[in-house]
Amino acid sequence: GLNRRTFEDILKKNIRISLKPLGDFKIYIAQSTIYVEPIDWEPDFDEVALRVSKIFGIAAFSRAAVAKKDFDDIVKTTTEYLGKELTAAKTFKVEAKRADKSFPLKSPEICANLGEAMLLQYPNLSVDVHSPDVTVTVEVRDYAAYIRSGATRGAGGVPTGTGGNAAVLISGGIDSPVAAYMMAKRGLRLCAIHFASPPYTSPRAEQKVVKLLQKVSLYCGSINMYTVPFTKIQENIRKFADDDYFTLVMRRAMMRIASIIAQNADSKALITGESLGQVASQTLEAIACTDDASALPVFRPLIGMDKEEIIKISRQIDTFETSIEPYEDCCTVFTPKHPRTKPKLKFVKEEEQKAQIESLIDEAVENTVMRYILPVRG
Ligand code: ATP
Ligand code: MG
Repeated sequence: GLNRRTFEDILKKNIRISLKPLGDFKIYIAQSTIYVEPIDWEPDFDEVALRVSKIFGIAAFSRAAVAKKDFDDIVKTTTEYLGKELTAAKTFKVEAKRADKSFPLKSPEICANLGEAMLLQYPNLSVDVHSPDVTVTVEVRDYAAYIRSGATRGAGGVPTGTGGNAAVLISGGIDSPVAAYMMAKRGLRLCAIHFASPPYTSPRAEQKVVKLLQKVSLYCGSINMYTVPFTKIQENIRKFADDDYFTLVMRRAMMRIASIIAQNADSKALITGESLGQVASQTLEAIACTDDASALPVFRPLIGMDKEEIIKISRQIDTFETSIEPYEDCCTVFTPKHPRTKPKLKFVKEEEQKAQIESLIDEAVENTVMRYILPVRG
């Protein structure tokens, strides 16, 4: 609708940021298409395509060669650019779009003439309009003619940053990086909150979270990561609260701290990797108890997914192998033997009182450390 322009501007900016490390590109919109052109240099086009394929808000993209708006140059450029593909193919067809109506040939004429030229040049080819090996597409636009073969499917979704800010609670596990990816895909700009309990959790466990976020940020751009010192709170809960309620009281403390940090960072929602029924703290009753402690809406994009489905996405975004590295998480260090699966909020709150964590919550927020995470592959 009327805000289309805003979306396009943010998308252009996201593309610029993603390609910046490779060099200078001219990025502009004409006739509802975004053009990305290197300015007088030859980039590694595979790398450019790889980066573009991870940017949310792009449904499809293609690599194109630019020809002058002149039929002979279109023929020449097509053979130069697609010669290899056309030599290997048995069948082909030509599709043409003529956005610039001043171009002397109409679309069907471009198709017929270019098709004929290709048949002369490549005796191996015949025309198949239904399922050709290669489709040569020519678009005659305002500034030039663009020649390409098939388009590649993009990352889909909506441009990151068009939906506002949210904070993902990130552990070193499989689920939360996937949850982060899914909400970034819906246009949210992310910051990340991680709870660490040294010496129960090691610096390597935190390093693993950094590595996961570096991979997620290939899709959603740079991320501010907040690491919360959680040891004292966990020790208090352990010492003073009923063991069966440990996880619930702890998770409520996480939500309270995360709400404060998120709000300070101008974030309007929390995101977790919870999936209904996956573990004791993710039953309907347990989730109701944690939800109650959050001051912000909590998004749980994985709530209805099976582990297999979640793993499939984590492989696709290349976080799986890192997630399964064996470092302890603060959630697993004091896991009770008999966690409550149908807790009553009233009893959870009583145990929370006993744990005496009120002042520790403010202290944890104060001692939170922020670092800046940039995309890293591999
Ligand atoms: P994950 O695979 O994301 O670790 P999980 O299946 O292990 O999830 P839990 O340990 O119950 O499930 O954690 C549920 C959610 O709580 C996580 O998806 C994450 O959003 C959040 N969470 C858990 N541990 C931490 C932590 N140490 N720091 C920040 N958030 C956490
Ligand atoms: Mg976990």
